[in-house]
Formats: sequence, structure tokens, C-alpha cells
Amino acid sequence: MKKRQGYTLALIITLLISITGVGFAQGPMLHDIRPGYGVTKIGWLSDYHAPLRNTSVDSRVYYLDSGKPGPTAVILGGTHSNEIAGIAAATLIIERAEVTAGRVIVIPYANSSGASSIDERRPNIRTWSMETESGLRTFPYGDRRTKAEDQEPDPEVYVHYPSGLELSPDEARNLNRAHPGKADGTTTQQLAYAYYRIITEEDADIAIDMHEAGVGSRLANMLIANPKNLDLAVLAVVELELQGIIMNVEHSSEEFKGLSHREWGDHTRAAAYLIETPNPGQTSSIADPDVVNDPVNPLSKRAATQLATIEAIFVAHEMVLGERPVWTGLPTYDELVQNGLGSYLR
Ligand SMILES: [Zn+2]
Repeated sequence: MKKRQGYTLALIITLLISITGVGFAQGPMLHDIRPGYGVTKIGWLSDYHAPLRNTSVDSRVYYLDSGKPGPTAVILGGTHSNEIAGIAAATLIIERAEVTAGRVIVIPYANSSGASSIDERRPNIRTWSMETESGLRTFPYGDRRTKAEDQEPDPEVYVHYPSGLELSPDEARNLNRAHPGKADGTTTQQLAYAYYRIITEEDADIAIDMHEAGVGSRLANMLIANPKNLDLAVLAVVELELQGIIMNVEHSSEEFKGLSHREWGDHTRAAAYLIETPNPGQTSSIADPDVVNDPVNPLSKRAATQLATIEAIFVAHEMVLGERPVWTGLPTYDELVQNGLGSYLR
């Protein structure tokens, strides 16, 4: 290309960035996900909200469709990119699960912009790795929020839409304070809007958001449910207890807005849940956490807890409503704890 054309192209790209907003130049981050036989289709979040196309928050959507009747579950990992048990569990579903009734739709990197950022509290942890049958695989350990460069500067007060609730400015880039989203809002609000669209357009019966909290936090090992499906969450926790897995349960707060379990449950037909497991990386008093091989809360155990809780939610739905998404191919809780995540990732 001649020099003059190069300048022209650069000018056009610069203009496009200024017109379409931040994130255009970077585009979506591609992650190491190796879909198994259960994946019947791969799409994008931008299929549900076109303005996300070619932005850093666009992310792949994996469909595991049995082609047989049954409920649809939408499952998110990585709403917060440093809460890696949800990302690991979502990756396992995509790589190993085969769905035999209903549908499971998985987004492993729910805020992919955060995955490209550095955890401001743990800047020395940039990735995590796992030895698998095909060699060492490496995944990002990102930040809790959308990358600053991918959104307009944080406002002095972040006003949640549509409730009008005022939140601290740092929450303006927190996907889990932006639900149900805003079609013409900030990058993070538009990302949240894409999840609202996916849940409504796919007519989801169940929506699950996988998170982690600091070890010792009140939230660690917690299943949070929208009040309308709290009874199902209680049944799920009893089902887990029968297996010796102790989870607490609570319903969405009345005051806090913007959280997935609150807004999805209130604004869509779906029963909405959020799962929290204990991540030593999120405990500020731990100086040098090992987010994969922590002796008490290893990643394998945290991912096993996430998967067991999803399974227990499905069991509860079958008990009360008579049907559930049915899947095979995933390790049991005990298998995953004993053999480790690396034995099951591809
Ligand atoms: Zn979280």
C-alpha cells in the first residue's frame, strides 16, 4: 500500500473509532475454548445487540441444543473476569457436556473487556494455567470491571437504569450493576442489555450467573435467587447438602439494583440465580494467593461446586416443574475434586 493510502486508512479508522465509540479498534478478544460434541452452534452476543459487533465486549455464545423438548438455561461465567471458577465451569460445560433434553446456552467470558484488563487488586496475577491431556493451557485472569479504555470516563455518580438508584462511580463499569441494561447506554449498559435480549429472545426458563467472593466473605459458597424462585433455590441447596456440599441460600436484596439475579428475575420469565464460590485471590489479607492450587479452595473444587450447584438447580426444577435440561459427559463433584480440572479440559 502506498504511503498516502496508509494515511487515509489511518484517518478513516480514527474517524470510525470516534464515531462508533471506544472498543472498535480492539475488537473482541478470542479465548482458548475447545468445544466438544455437545456444542451445536456458536454465535456472538452481538447477534442479540448489533452495536456490540467488533467491540471488546462482544463475546462468543455456545449453544448445546438437544433438539428435544425441555427447558432452556442460559449460563454465564466471567461476569467478573477475576472470578475464574465460573469461567472454568463454563469452559468444562462447552468442552464436555452433551445435552439430551432442552437447551443450555453458555457464555464463558460474559465481560470479555474485563478479561483483557489487569485486576487492579492483583496486578501480578495476569493468567492462570492448567496442564491438560493436550498440554499446558493458559487463560486470562482479568479485572472485575470493563476496561477503562473501553468506556467513557466514569461519572461522578453512576445512576443505574432504569431504577435511578445512585451508585459509586466505580460501579459504572461493573456488568453486575448494569442489568437489565440500556440499548443506547454505556458500553457496560449495552453489554447488560445483550444478556437481557438473549434471555428474552431464547425464552430462557433458567438464567445462572457464576461468581466468586473472597474466602471468609459472607457471600462465599452462596446461592442467591430472585425472590420468585427462592423455593427452587432452597430445594437445590438441600439437594447439595445430601451430597455433603454445603451452600447457603438467600434472595436478592430489595435495595440493590442492577444485579443479574434481581433484574433478570424481575424483567424476564427466567428463574434467576447467582452462584458464589470462595476465591483466595479476592481476599485482601492473603498476600500471595494461589488462585489455582490453593490447598483449601483449589480451582478444581470451586469449579466442581459451581457445576454441582447448577445440577442441583436443574434437579429442583424437575422436582417442582416436572422438567429440566438434561446433560451427560460432565465429571461429578467428587471426580472433579479428586482428578482435577486438567483431567477434563480438552
Ligand atoms: Zn462477582
